Amino acid sequence: MFNKLLIANRGEISCRVIKTARKMGIRTVAVYSDADANALHVQMADEAFRLGPAPSRDSYLQAQKIIDIAKQHNVDAIHPGYGFLSENSMFAKLCSDNGIAFVGPPVLAIDAMGSKSAAKRIMQDAGVPLVPGYHGDDQSAEIIKKHADDMGYPVLLKAAAGGGGKGMRQVWSSDEFDEALAAAKREAMSSFNDDIMLVEKYLTQPRHVEIQVFCDNHGNGVYLHERDCSVQRRHQKVIEEAPAPGMSDALRKQMGEAALRAANAIDYRGAGTVEFLLDADGQFYFMEMNTRLQVEHPVTEMITGLDLVEWQLRVANNETLPLSQAQIPLNGHAFEARIYAEDPDNNFLPATGTLQLLKPPVEGPNVRVDTGVSQGDEVSVYYDPMIAKLIVWDENRDKALARLCQSLRQYHIEGLTTNIDFLYNLAASKTFAQANLTTDFIDRHQDVLNQTSEYDLHRLLPLATLTILETGKKLTRPSSGDPYSPWSMANHWRANETHIQSVKIAVGDNEYDISVQQSAGEQDVVIVFDGQTYRCQATLNDDTLLASINGHRSTTAVASHAESVTLFTADEAFRFRHVMPDLGLSDDNESGGGFSAPMNGTVVSLNVEPGVSVKAGQTLMIMEAMKMEHAIKAPSAGVVKEFFFKAGELVDGGAMLLEFDAEVSE
Ligand code: ADP
Repeated sequence: MFNKLLIANRGEISCRVIKTARKMGIRTVAVYSDADANALHVQMADEAFRLGPAPSRDSYLQAQKIIDIAKQHNVDAIHPGYGFLSENSMFAKLCSDNGIAFVGPPVLAIDAMGSKSAAKRIMQDAGVPLVPGYHGDDQSAEIIKKHADDMGYPVLLKAAAGGGGKGMRQVWSSDEFDEALAAAKREAMSSFNDDIMLVEKYLTQPRHVEIQVFCDNHGNGVYLHERDCSVQRRHQKVIEEAPAPGMSDALRKQMGEAALRAANAIDYRGAGTVEFLLDADGQFYFMEMNTRLQVEHPVTEMITGLDLVEWQLRVANNETLPLSQAQIPLNGHAFEARIYAEDPDNNFLPATGTLQLLKPPVEGPNVRVDTGVSQGDEVSVYYDPMIAKLIVWDENRDKALARLCQSLRQYHIEGLTTNIDFLYNLAASKTFAQANLTTDFIDRHQDVLNQTSEYDLHRLLPLATLTILETGKKLTRPSSGDPYSPWSMANHWRANETHIQSVKIAVGDNEYDISVQQSAGEQDVVIVFDGQTYRCQATLNDDTLLASINGHRSTTAVASHAESVTLFTADEAFRFRHVMPDLGLSDDNESGGGFSAPMNGTVVSLNVEPGVSVKAGQTLMIMEAMKMEHAIKAPSAGVVKEFFFKAGELVDGGAMLLEFDAEVSE
């Protein structure tokens, strides 16, 4: 076996690979960018070396630099993880040219699948069923459009070099085609430096079912069953599960064998995934093959009890596959939920910030958390904003789903916007429990998924008030520092009388007035809200509020940052603000703030002329952030008075982008 493994990656996958290497007695080498100098993967590895500045192209994509480090430090194998250089055949070749084992498939296999168009041609010849479409070399816009028109709408444009849903556009009619093609090409160019496109019939309600395959250098190949990854947003996976609900043994075998045909057609080695779209009638179509370990590989590990990274290392070390097809286990059911720094209420826009609080659920045989960050770390604009993967297992789907819901409730993060509440709504929804999965699941159930839970204010506001009182007491103790803190209200209390004070709490857009009474010498605080009285006692120990409200005792985790506070009760994450009475700050919010930049990014294009009337919903400008385009649309009919940025300019998150005059209807 290898002595020293370099992991040419960062984040959770780097940590994941290090764990297995350590278990196998292999020494590990991490690499890092300046943004990651103190990251978890650097701490976990036996050795770590700097690659360069934060942007990936200056660090994690510096193939030669990685090879140089490997050679200088006697590394004998490189694991590329996923993303970055994992599907870069030049990097695989550099490894072998330098006598280092690349933990992945051969150069030719990566090349064969590197282009979605070329891959489709190979699969056609190998008798693997394809979605109808055009994947030819003639890239003129007219030809691509003609194929789309002939095929009939809707169609899906895809970047041949694509991945991660980038460079992909649905087109619903011929009129939309030109704009969609231009946008998809731009996105493909900026993400992959290649704008070759293909067009496919867009299947409206398919499932995404993919097969995990493994091949060794000795002619053996097996499939490790399937994963259902239908639950997606922006064509990217959100929750994955294994096995696929409702999958018959016969279809599993049929798809597994088709996947192995695909792998054999390109003389594949190591771990690979063949992605299919599965129709309601059981027809399946090849979409693409990913020549690396996938993000969602843990669900396969949970149902098979196998360590896929260990298998990868064994195959790279020229060993034979440990099991034959008939020996591959399939036990129970597993889910993976991807915890992202992103805003589900704002088109899943990536979020950035500091993980002020990061408390994952406790891990055990049924709950696994794969992460690459620790509390206090920054989620930056430079890399994918995934915070962690929450993986659960149980003996059947219902039980596993209950575990997923429970673990999501126990996942506490503060400091930035995450999709945890959204994931919970999804996991807890009736439709998800019914496993009625299709790739448009999230769009179809938007209303259920985005609904903010109806808070039980009579239970939560007394808790919130106690949190404010207790935090205030702490902050005004002599050692606590800031006497001007908005929490400093305990100085209002006077001896020998009953003091009544009002506290204002904001929950979303609503504000609530709560009255607080405390008598001299009394332990109890009396809280009055909405005509009801609550007799309370509380203490705040570190981040835990121990409260007794009308005799009912509870323990609640509390997290606060800036002026927002979150209470993590057993049932929900309740966010509120303590509204200060006399700070005299005016919120001039009347413009709705809809035209501030959602995050740091670049202006791609200005799509209308200032002064010219536009319709509601019309695209005013396009911004690019994290290699994804975001259209800024008119909220109503009106005119843009002025754009504050030009195409190509960098914009800070929150900056005003344009001035808009809504049309006043008479
Ligand atoms: P990427 O490599 O960018 O992830 P894929 O080709 O794997 O792109 O497709 C991503 C997702 O897009 C699929 O999981 C599926 O939901 C959707 N998709 C892809 N092709 C089609 C199609 N022809 N019809 C309908 N949905 C599709």
